[in-house]
Amino acid sequence: MMIGIIYKIKDSVDLFLSDDTILTAYFMNSRRRKSFRINGEMIHLIEQIDGIHTTEQIYDIMEKQYSVSKDSVDRTLSMLLSNKIITEVKDLSEIIDTVDYYRYTRQINYFSEFLGSEEEGVLAQKKVMSSHIGIFGCGAVGGNIALQLVMAGVRELTLYDMDIVEESDVSRHMYYSSNSIGRNKVDVLKDQLLKVDSNIIVHTICSSMKPSDDIEPIIENLDFAVNTLDEPYIGYTASKISRICIKHMIPHFIAGGFDAHLASTGEIIIPYVTPCVECYANHFKESLKNWKPKKHPVVRRETEIGGLASMTLFSTSFAVIEIIKYIAGLMEAKENYKVRGELLFTSLKITYLNVSKDPNCPVCGGIEKNEA
Ligand SMILES: [Zn+2]
Repeated sequence: MMIGIIYKIKDSVDLFLSDDTILTAYFMNSRRRKSFRINGEMIHLIEQIDGIHTTEQIYDIMEKQYSVSKDSVDRTLSMLLSNKIITEVKDLSEIIDTVDYYRYTRQINYFSEFLGSEEEGVLAQKKVMSSHIGIFGCGAVGGNIALQLVMAGVRELTLYDMDIVEESDVSRHMYYSSNSIGRNKVDVLKDQLLKVDSNIIVHTICSSMKPSDDIEPIIENLDFAVNTLDEPYIGYTASKISRICIKHMIPHFIAGGFDAHLASTGEIIIPYVTPCVECYANHFKESLKNWKPKKHPVVRRETEIGGLASMTLFSTSFAVIEIIKYIAGLMEAKENYKVRGELLFTSLKITYLNVSKDPNCPVCGGIEKNEA
């Protein structure tokens, strides 16, 4: 028996009754649908699951008014719980501060649908709030990822970039203005993040990433790393960051969204689960082994590939969805997790590339480890 418990139907679940015999639960966030055969007594029981009546009161009402036994009530409640249709109404103030609860209510409800109870949704939100995330590269991609992560509740970030804000940056970043020009990107971004949440901790490192730089002490303290640093070039920074992350079992995200990677969905790398940066590099080396570059007829080309801020924002939002999904425990991370892709401007299709983990990879091959 479930004594003294109060249940409610989840905010994200809609219930429909057809012909008084079929109950359909429609899960609004995942678009799932589930139908159950139902009788008149069960309908009366569901009416009592209102976030006010305790289970004792429900047993009493169902027994006296409808001659339904406690066991039968328990069976229906268990069915509704296991199908994630109802959740326990609990005082969660010991787990989450009341102000935080109200700030992140919608997100908690969202997480709850995928996880189960509201309490599990709160615990997922707490995981987001206790994560320390490193952002390598604070341009249009890294900066907007940082901003969305703080909006989602991340409370400690390390920002790494050597650039200063230039005139052209103002058209590509959500939070730069004419007053930002000439200032360090990490400082302008930090100011903006503190406007969203003044209680967060933001560490800034204004530096380039040279081969001699030891970034291991920075990375080993992180729960998650994001690389968008395209200087000296993205392949170099991604390889350097990924190697250290794999060593310390830190999940990381290689974001795209600039130049030839416009509207890229990037890839999340979960050590020893998904392919690492080196696996991707080997994949391209293999697939391009017969490709012979021809001498270009134009000796000197000044290329500026171009871009569109909204395509970059697509990439940053995609990245943040993946990062939050992983941190909140909502991702089913598998070896063949498909994330390297891009949104095509004309057709709006996302095309994905399937890359497998290389068993002989010098960084992540050999030992099979389960997700930490
Ligand atoms: Zn690898």
